[in-house]
Amino acid sequence: MYKAKAYSVTSATSPFASTTIQRREPTDQDVQIEILYCGICHSDLHQARNEWSGVMPTVYPCVPGHEIVGKVTKIGSAVTKFKAGDLVGVGCLVDSDGTCPECKAGLEQFCPNMEFTYNFPDKHLGGVTYGGYSESIVVNERFVLRIPANLDPAGAAPLLCAGITTYSPMRHWGVGKGKKVGVVGLGGLGHMGVKFAHALGAHTVVFTTSPSKKDDALRLGADEVVLSRDANEMAKHAGSFDFILDAVAAEHDLNAYINLLARDGNLTMVGAPETPLPVAVFGLLFRRRSFSGSLIGGIAETQEMLDFCGEHNITSDVEVIPIQKLNEAYERLVKSDVKYRFSIDMASLKAE
Ligand code: NAP
Ligand code: ZN
Repeated sequence: MYKAKAYSVTSATSPFASTTIQRREPTDQDVQIEILYCGICHSDLHQARNEWSGVMPTVYPCVPGHEIVGKVTKIGSAVTKFKAGDLVGVGCLVDSDGTCPECKAGLEQFCPNMEFTYNFPDKHLGGVTYGGYSESIVVNERFVLRIPANLDPAGAAPLLCAGITTYSPMRHWGVGKGKKVGVVGLGGLGHMGVKFAHALGAHTVVFTTSPSKKDDALRLGADEVVLSRDANEMAKHAGSFDFILDAVAAEHDLNAYINLLARDGNLTMVGAPETPLPVAVFGLLFRRRSFSGSLIGGIAETQEMLDFCGEHNITSDVEVIPIQKLNEAYERLVKSDVKYRFSIDMASLKAE
């Protein structure tokens, strides 16, 4: 075991503060990574503030962070995919059993024995896993991804969660040329969704509650922008979408979007608000529409997404911050005031 600097919260209401955590020495299959950048996902905020207490109660102290990019510093004796100095990424998953049908299908996120990067029982050290708001992490090589060399590491970090969470359902539901696709909520996930829908060739429409984001939405690749609180603007799109991706972190009206779907259209929820959202079933019956959810993506598909980003030069639009600004960043995230992802420059942790 060795000590690593990190930032943690000690309760649902306490601010982040500097701390020291234990990391394991790399075992045979492990890769030790010096973290360069870590994105701030809204899930980090839900978890730090125990907003998902009914499903995934938070164990304190909690060190969030699952959008990690860093450099390999050490490898175990059985590691074959990586060497010291490689630029790598780690997302939301750090382990799974590797033998169940889900793992065999490349869907490790649904493995009954999968392990999240933070706030999950730690098989190696006991207690819970600690995430990327830290100077280093040790991860089994199966869960370490390659970052294409042409991508800026600060902007690549959010691909590890925001990227794969939006890419995976779009691939699953056949987003591409000739499809009309909506993205609801222009936040960290949403802005990646717009970039992917556009790169995949779909006619892309952004739904936002923030009039100030209209120009950005077009710059990011949207063909049209709809202010979702304007009922007239919404009505113009009734019954016309093949697919809508909803990436909203708060309570909102899903039925307004179900009504915009064409026959056999699908609304996929990736946002994870803390409260249940009512769905009017009749909206689904007519036109055989469907409503689904999606959770990040498997490891092979995450690598596919990263390679796609390498080919198309896609990264997240980031605001790089020192870790000392973490509490301020969280306050801004609640107000949808980030363009479009915070990425923590972990060099700032050295000053602690
Ligand atoms: P984010 O950056 O805060 O973006 C959320 C966006 O939702 C905001 O920018 C805002 O966009 C919109 N919004 C906020 N409050 C709203 C309200 N009251 N009504 C309507 N729209 C509102 O968050 P994120 O990091 O993208 O995460 C979004 C959600 O996805 C979170 O709940 C997170 O936990 C979840 N998530 C799920 C997965 C998964 O695997 N399923 C993975 C990662 C994250 P506008 O200003 O454009 O309206
Ligand atoms: Zn996330």
